[in-house]
Formats: sequence, structure tokens, C-alpha cells
Amino acid sequence: MTNCNVTMTCTGPCNRLLTLIAAAIAMLSPALHAQDATTLIRAARLIDGHGALVSPGAVLVAGERIEAVGAAALSHPADRTIDLGDATLLPGLIDLHTHLTDKVGVHWEEVLTTTTPAQAALYGAANALTTLRAGFTTVRDMGPTWPYTDVELRDIIDAGVIPGPRMQVAGNYVSSTGGAGDARQFSIYVDVPAVRNLADGVDAVRAAVRTNHKHGADFTKILATGAVLSQGLSPGAQQYSDEEIAVAVEETNRWGRFTAAHAHGTEGIKAAIRAGVRTIDHGSMLDDEAIAMLQQSDHTYFVPTLYVGVIVPRDGAALGIPEPLIRRSTEMMRYRNSTFRRALEAGLTIGFGTDAGVFEHGHNAREFQVRVEIGESEMDAITSATSISAMIMGWESDVGSLEPGKYADVIAVPGNPLDDITALERVIWVMKGGEIHRDDLAPGR
Ligand SMILES: [Zn+2]
Repeated sequence: MTNCNVTMTCTGPCNRLLTLIAAAIAMLSPALHAQDATTLIRAARLIDGHGALVSPGAVLVAGERIEAVGAAALSHPADRTIDLGDATLLPGLIDLHTHLTDKVGVHWEEVLTTTTPAQAALYGAANALTTLRAGFTTVRDMGPTWPYTDVELRDIIDAGVIPGPRMQVAGNYVSSTGGAGDARQFSIYVDVPAVRNLADGVDAVRAAVRTNHKHGADFTKILATGAVLSQGLSPGAQQYSDEEIAVAVEETNRWGRFTAAHAHGTEGIKAAIRAGVRTIDHGSMLDDEAIAMLQQSDHTYFVPTLYVGVIVPRDGAALGIPEPLIRRSTEMMRYRNSTFRRALEAGLTIGFGTDAGVFEHGHNAREFQVRVEIGESEMDAITSATSISAMIMGWESDVGSLEPGKYADVIAVPGNPLDDITALERVIWVMKGGEIHRDDLAPGR
């Protein structure tokens, strides 16, 4: 996407929004520009994203791509060398479930009445930088409340105007009326004509999918069941019929793209797997049959979001979440941990997601500790957040591992995260596409 395309898709308030973004750019830290030459990055060790630990760690970068890794990198002459000492190099992390345009502390059902699309875009720009500096160089963004503000954010990052992760975006999620994505929680006499995010019946769902992809979505997000943080049906209840979910997937497949299903309850999860979605997000109430269906599928993956289930019952009020919805989250805790444990025991291929935006952006890596405490090995959790999530996004040839030919998305954490997984919460160095966006070791930074 070019700046030109961004401008062409903007009319009315959106033009004002671009002006505001331009003003915000000046406030954001500029990236350190790598020269178009070779850089050798060294550290005590390296985790490659496919489950291997290599010592010493070395990555040779040329321009925006990785040229060589390990011993091969050390045998090349480099124009400059960066030695990060007793640190571990890893591929840039991937979060499959963020809400970058959300301002933490504003409950999403109040967004349409108390905020503006310009705010969503500006907070999105700030949150994108925070997320990048936390080591997450790629995200799949699961949707804004002001439709398509994520599309603009993705495009302006891709244009190199502001720093942020590589993004796949939902644009405008597909929800039933009164369903988990119905943000219109106000009087029937009040309307926000610019926001049309509800679709009921197969024809309307098909039209919603087409509209989203026309306006720049990379994938379809459908709300298959109730949600923890929404009014209406309980998280366990299926909200879209099997036919409605199936038509969303069918139409999305025509666009050559994936569908992500928000699904907590067992029946909605199974309907989404049968329909052929790419991911079951949250998946709180996977039963044994659903786990078996996922085992047999070569297309659909489980993306749990466990840390949000810990932090909402604890800090929900401070996060602006209404009390009845905090109680919903507490009730779902009964299922989440045992679901994840059984998914591990079944050997499912599991993606890495967080729901950042419900809690502070940049705290994405706190998900690792929860997963390890339940029983996942440190290395498997890292592989989930790198090569597995890249594969789930369909971006495995570009990101998700330290291999020649991939984008030079490289991060460093102190010590060895296999000894202490919380090291991933203390990222000290971030490179995306050959540009350094964080360097805590350099003097004066
Ligand atoms: Zn979410």
C-alpha cells in the first residue's frame, strides 16, 4: 500500500484524522535507520523459532532481510557488528489477537459514544510503537470498534511513516445484532450511521464479508458465540447459526483469505471448526470432541488468550470493565486452564494470542508465563509465538524464525528465557526489517 492509496480511501472526517496522525508522528521516536549494508548481531545464544537453541548466537542482516544465521553468519565479513552480550536473540514475536486501536480503560461498548475515530487512530499509532518495542514485530489485529481505523494504521506503518508491527487487520468484525460484537449499546433512538458492524442472516453476513474485504480487511473476524466482555448472550452460547458461520468462511475463502472465529462456547467452537475457520480464538470451552476435531484438521488452529482471563478478574474495575462482565470473566476461569492443559496433552498445534487492548498494550509477553505455569514448555511457548503463529497467518515465508531470506525481525532479551520465561517481558533490543527500534544497551538511550 502506498500513501496515495491511503489518501484515496479517505473522505470527510478521515482526512482530518490523517492530519492528526501526521502531527502525532513528530512525537514518536524515530527509528534508527540501518544502512543498506551488512550488520552482524551477536549474543550469547539464539533461539531460532523452530525449537533450536544455538550458542553463540549470530545473525547477519543485509538490508531488510536475514542473510545468514549461526556459524554461517560468523564466517561472513560484516560492515558493522552489534554485540548484545549475555542475551538471547529471538525472531520478532507474533501476537495473533490484539486490539491496537483500543484505549485501555475505555470499555469497548462505550467507544462509540465517548470517543472518536481520530482518537482510535492516534492511540493506535502510540500502541503500535509500544507493542513493537515490547518485541512483537507482527500482530493480527482482531478489530477496532470504529471500523477500518486498523486498516489505516496498517497502511501508514507499511508506508514507513510511523513505526509499528507488521499487521493483518479485521477491518470491521462480523457480529449478530445484540451479539458479542454489538457496540451499539445505546437507546434505540440514537444512531451512529457511519458504523454498520452488524449482520443477520446468510445474505447479510455475505454482504458484510464482501464490504469488509472491499475496504481493506486482511481476514474476516466473526463472533460465533457470546463474549466475556459484552452484554447479551453468555460466552457459552452460540450466536451465529451454523449456516451464517459457514457462509462467512465460504465468502472469505473466495477472497483467498482466512476467517478468525471469536468462540468461547462448545457448540459455537464446533460449528466454526466444521465451517473451516482458520482460528478458534479464546476457545475457552473446548471439549474432548472439539479437541479431536482440531487434531484431525490440517487447517484450523486454537488461539487461547489466557492472561486476559487472569487480569480481568483481578484488575477489571481499573481497566474500565463493568462489574457484571468481570463476573463473567471469573466464571470462565473454571474452564480456561483445564482446556489449555487438555489441548497440550492432545498435542494440538497452538497459536499465540493475548487480547492486548483489554489490558495494557506492551504487556503481551505476560501470556508466556501463564502458559508455562499450566504446563507448556518454555521452548514450545516461544515456538507458538514465532513460527507457528507465522504459519497460521500464512506469513511463514517472511516472518516467524531466524532463517536466511526472512525479514530481519530480531529481538533480544537478557539471559536465557528457557531458564526464566519472564525474560520475554524485558526485551532490550528490537529490530524490524533491518531497522533498530529499541536499543537499551546503547549509551544515552
Ligand atoms: Zn479480542
